[in-house]
Amino acid sequence: MATKTDYYELLSVARTASADEIKKAYRKQAMKYHPDKNQGDEVAEAKFKEISEAYEVLSDEQKRQRYDQFGHEGVKQSFGPGGFDFSRDFTHASDLQDILGNLFGGGGGGMFDDFLGGGGGRRRSRTGPQQGSDLRFNLEIDLEEAAFGSEREVSLPISEECGDCKGSGMAKGAKPESCRHCAGRGNVISGGGFFQVRQTCPVCGGAGTMVTNPCGSCQGTGRCKVKRRLTLKIPKGVDSGSRLRLSGKGEGGVRGGPAGDLYVVMHVRQHDLFERRESDLYCEIPIPPHMAALGGEVQVPTIDGYAKLKLSPGTENGKVYRLRGRGMSDVDGYGRGQMHVRVVLETPAKLSSAQKKALKVVADLDSEKNYPGAAHVKEMAEAFYERKQAINRK
Ligand SMILES: [Zn+2]
Ligand SMILES: [Zn+2]
Repeated sequence: MATKTDYYELLSVARTASADEIKKAYRKQAMKYHPDKNQGDEVAEAKFKEISEAYEVLSDEQKRQRYDQFGHEGVKQSFGPGGFDFSRDFTHASDLQDILGNLFGGGGGGMFDDFLGGGGGRRRSRTGPQQGSDLRFNLEIDLEEAAFGSEREVSLPISEECGDCKGSGMAKGAKPESCRHCAGRGNVISGGGFFQVRQTCPVCGGAGTMVTNPCGSCQGTGRCKVKRRLTLKIPKGVDSGSRLRLSGKGEGGVRGGPAGDLYVVMHVRQHDLFERRESDLYCEIPIPPHMAALGGEVQVPTIDGYAKLKLSPGTENGKVYRLRGRGMSDVDGYGRGQMHVRVVLETPAKLSSAQKKALKVVADLDSEKNYPGAAHVKEMAEAFYERKQAINRK
């Protein structure tokens, strides 16, 4: 095995060099041996790999310390089984782009994708028309709006074609370059032997071109976010999860492509008074005990206004009355749901002495016959104590 060249020697720096000196030295060497400048030169590529490995170690304080102490053996475990590999071991990728990026046309060069295995930070360019994506927007509405329908003005952040570059993603005067990763073919072949697979080029997304000088307004994406005002017509009867589809109001298309659709998904807020289940509404109405006993008429709130509800004498606590056609409208136009009114007894808390006196008269006249429920509990309780005594006697 050939002995490896000393890292400091590779970068031509002193062993006491500062981080900045190391960075500068690497930049100088990398410029010289960069594969984009030495296309097809395997010696230069190998050299570039060597100096990059040296930089990877010497630019990392911990690795540099281990290297100073133990030499190449000390940093061997930093690298994968096959030795230094750009795609796995080069943790200073962003550094590298920072160092070299502006030398080779802004966004780095195709080689970084070869080595780093992806289009990290790369600008993609598609020359043909591109359709905008469908967008989803959640809208909270009140029950009142859902019940009667309404119009809502909204202002949504939606991407549209960038006016400065007309969707090309390129700075003024820049020309798209042939993608270096796929040599402009738009696809790459991976695998080997029988298992070769042709894939869409991950760098240019199949376009075959790339933007090396991106538009400043849209950072090369070809689209800019704008606030778009829209009037939404909310039909009556919508429920949580109902969707409004606004055709062509989604993300804008670029270079002549059609816009996507906008889907507005409704979320109906909980209401203080009415609870909704599908097109039925539920509401509780408290009544005084004497009304429960004697019967009477009570005002019940519905979404259309108060309704009169007749209570029969002896109305039980918790009894539910149904009012037909007083629920929510069906969104598809199939009439209206029901309104369920549950009556609950409300105990009077602050009685005047006259009221107390009158109630005392009622209490004195009261008889157990009026309370079959209480009588039933008493019966069961007595049966229980009898059985208990029988057991204790044994
Ligand atoms: Zn632009
Ligand atoms: Zn490509």
